[in-house]
Amino acid sequence: MLAIGIDIGGSKIRMGVIDVGEGRVLKTIEWHIRKGVNPEELVEEIALKLRQVIEKPKDLKGIGIAAAGQIAIDRKEIIFSPNLAWHNVSLVEMLKQKTGYEVWMENDVRSAAIGEMRFGVAKGISDFIVIFVGTGIGSGIVVDGKLLRGVSNTAGEVGHTILQPGGYPCSCGNRGCFETYSGGSYLSKKLWDRIKTKRINKNKIKKIPSDINEINVSLIQDMAKDGDESAIEIWEEAKFFLGIGIANLVSIFNPEMIILGGGVIEHAPSLIEDVKIAIKRDSVPASAKMVKVVRSSLGAYATIIGVASLGGNIDI
Ligand SMILES: [Zn+2]
Repeated sequence: MLAIGIDIGGSKIRMGVIDVGEGRVLKTIEWHIRKGVNPEELVEEIALKLRQVIEKPKDLKGIGIAAAGQIAIDRKEIIFSPNLAWHNVSLVEMLKQKTGYEVWMENDVRSAAIGEMRFGVAKGISDFIVIFVGTGIGSGIVVDGKLLRGVSNTAGEVGHTILQPGGYPCSCGNRGCFETYSGGSYLSKKLWDRIKTKRINKNKIKKIPSDINEINVSLIQDMAKDGDESAIEIWEEAKFFLGIGIANLVSIFNPEMIILGGGVIEHAPSLIEDVKIAIKRDSVPASAKMVKVVRSSLGAYATIIGVASLGGNIDI
């Protein structure tokens, strides 16, 4: 059986045709999200791209949408998407109207957790947390084999737990949130702000970005290696808070496994070792001893595989 998985991320959309029996990705397509795009325009784009990826539309079970942000209890509406600045958008109904297919929706990192649980590294594990460090930071927390949802379906917003009261401003409107220290978009912005205001020793630093869009985690690491003080400071701070944020989760949930993924981890897998050290140092010892910290086995496809495999089942 085939289904479509769509991952609406912070800066791009990934769409895939998934064999939901085996959790296999048959075809994918990616495109950038235009700044300020409204829901009607995005649904139009999705419908257009859909025609490019499916050849025999009648074989399709339906479309699963994974979106960053808070999803309503009935999982038909996005309550708030900090990335897109959308409030109360009935995306499921809109896409259903537009395409005629059955449509369902889940939070993006929860979808990744479902993917890892059914087809990936968390198969057979009943207590684990998937943490994706990308543009921001999200999580999917599985306790006793079930996704932790909370009373209004917003449990697991680890990126917006405050690690530094009064710290950097966050897209959610608060300050000092976890993701403002270790989330990719914040790291880029911090480095760009500093590049604009100070001179950089061009002989020492090999690659100096001329635009914020050229900054990614690999470049920040390279600049830090070359000895750029701003890059070193931003990167050390990112590592430090990533460790603290995850060590706290290990103490709270006592998981068997922490699964790390997302763009920042993909570009800097050495962060996994830093997280292990932080857990050993800062988590409750009985929890620290038991937890395995691993990289997402489905990687960038965990989310589309997971959401496609849901098939409208909202009991997970
Ligand atoms: Zn926040």
